[in-house]
Amino acid sequence: MSEDRNYAEAESICPFCGVGCGIAYDERTGKATGWRAPVNRRGEVCPKGVAAFDQVGHEERLTTPLVREGGRLVPATWDEAFDRIESEFGRVRREHGPDAAFFFASSNCTNEENYVLQKGARAFGTNNVDNCARLCHSSTVAAMRARFGAGAMTNSLDDLTEADAFLVVGANPAEQHPVIFRSYFVPALKSGTEMIHVDPRSNATTDGASVHLPVRPGYDIPLLNAIAKVIVAEGLADDSFVDERVEGFEEFVSFLDGVDVEAAAELAGVDPSDLREAAKLYGEADAAAVFTGMGMSQHHCGTDNVHALLNLALLTGNVGRPGTGVNPLRGQNNVQGAGDVGALPNLLPGYRDVTDGEARATVAEEWGFEPPARPGLTEVEATHEFGDDVRAAYVFGENPAVTEPNANAVRERFEAAEFVVVHDIFPTETAELADVVLPGSSWAEKAGTVTNTDRQVMRMRPNADLPGDARPDLDILRELGDRLTDADFDYDGPEAVFDELTRVTPIYEGMTYDGIGTESQRWPFSADDGEGVAVLHADRFATGSKTAELRPVEHVEPADPVTDDELVLTTGRVIQQFNSGAVTRRSDTLVRMRPEDALQIHPDDAARRDIADGDDVVVANARGEVSVAAAVTPAVRPGTVFLTFHYANPLVNELTGDALDPTAKIPEYKHSAVRVTVEGEA
Ligand code: SF4
Repeated sequence: MSEDRNYAEAESICPFCGVGCGIAYDERTGKATGWRAPVNRRGEVCPKGVAAFDQVGHEERLTTPLVREGGRLVPATWDEAFDRIESEFGRVRREHGPDAAFFFASSNCTNEENYVLQKGARAFGTNNVDNCARLCHSSTVAAMRARFGAGAMTNSLDDLTEADAFLVVGANPAEQHPVIFRSYFVPALKSGTEMIHVDPRSNATTDGASVHLPVRPGYDIPLLNAIAKVIVAEGLADDSFVDERVEGFEEFVSFLDGVDVEAAAELAGVDPSDLREAAKLYGEADAAAVFTGMGMSQHHCGTDNVHALLNLALLTGNVGRPGTGVNPLRGQNNVQGAGDVGALPNLLPGYRDVTDGEARATVAEEWGFEPPARPGLTEVEATHEFGDDVRAAYVFGENPAVTEPNANAVRERFEAAEFVVVHDIFPTETAELADVVLPGSSWAEKAGTVTNTDRQVMRMRPNADLPGDARPDLDILRELGDRLTDADFDYDGPEAVFDELTRVTPIYEGMTYDGIGTESQRWPFSADDGEGVAVLHADRFATGSKTAELRPVEHVEPADPVTDDELVLTTGRVIQQFNSGAVTRRSDTLVRMRPEDALQIHPDDAARRDIADGDDVVVANARGEVSVAAAVTPAVRPGTVFLTFHYANPLVNELTGDALDPTAKIPEYKHSAVRVTVEGEA
């Protein structure tokens, strides 16, 4: 820990996953300790939470603005850096129009920061603003908004302990949301809740499951349709719920007539009797809750995958009651909030379409200007346009050079952009490609609110001074707004921003900074009774309708077909690291726990290639090539290999493709064809 910094013990929220555990500085250890926050009520934290201060005093923190001179990034004053930004963004707007700029918001930063950035983009004249929820759950949100009217967890963590069955699809909460798993799943499992785990890889979550369906990556739809067929065939549909709350039942049953359970199970790569058992466990439960993650969403058919999952909840009446619902487990600490407050190219704060004139008029009353009506580009679409339709980019708290698919092409695209600003706390891989780098604040140096995975808005409080000339993120974004636009960004701190955003974000209406205090306020919030709604869609769906439709979903083949000598690469996370690793790869504590990545490969696939455990192997396709040690394990299904996306070396996204889901524009990270060979024998 840096010696010239002041630290204080103040209740804040963990900067990593969407669980939202309360953590604070512990001066005895110099590490984080848990406090009894709304989610971790006993003060529990996972290894990442404990290590959250490793980034704060890290020697590689950015402490001064940098500008590119003669090909090198050199120190500059804040005025010099902002003059360059104002001049270049101004030039791009004059020469190419406001849509030639793109703003990356950050689901790792506060609601207030994301709100100010999206307002700034819209005041600049463009809806070209997005956050990395695009890369994780945009397809989940798209499907759930279309059918249920809201793209968030339908239930609260507290009421999910009332479930008789959990259906966990494409998620590994034991490692990715450890405190939820330990504090909510484990007690339920111990008291008899049955868990079905759908995942190509068995992992710590599978250990608690009654049934494991190791689905082939990309074949979720046949699997889920077959489960629906068994539910209907076994008389497990909830007739009264279907009568009252569901449309399209007859058509859906006709569609299921064409589903052959045995053939679907074979296509999905699972045992048909396990599939039937899973269908019965879910269908017979009085209350069954679905949890879904990126194994479902990160496909070029991600939206349809989630539609197929929603069919199961509707068929069985598992919506609108405690212990039921469809519950996306959100990744970053504020991925829910970044979307809530409008850091999306098609939606204003509160998920109102930019094409909705009434919604634009409402925000115009508060903002003093009307946002543009034309939806902007999504994150991956924007980088595809760098150098063409998009000339300038502002990257706030994200690391797209590592996180976007087809990373070699992404790097070239960043080089093709005329002007790139990176606003971050470390010299990330994306910062290396920037023209201006702004040193921002870490989680421990800021105040504001974040919204966790079950829609609870909680407050962060500073635990440390800023290093060097680094500035609070909110101040930087306010100056950006002042420099680039004529709108009013004269906020007296995060509380003033929060007040404003509650006035233009209907689901946050009535919340107050003081009211949140060290507890939380959940959306949708009612100021009348001071409560949020824990279980959505109880009498009506958030669409306003009493009913939602069953939707037949056809399987589509993965975008990257696999030949006989290739394997399917799928990607995911481990407990000791986080996202692009820009922060957690700099934590001594976490690096000691997992210093490097390893390619999980099934023993049969390894034997066929003469690969022994620990051998260095090359994983390659037309997009790229990485070297990594092999971890031979039956945990992955035959034909599939697994790498995490936490490391810049090996950078797995050199191998992933950028085929996009047509609705949500999420890339197909979970299925890439690769060749695997012992290093030196390719
Ligand atoms: Fe942080 Fe998530 Fe771990 Fe809680 S479970 S301490 S929020 S990383």
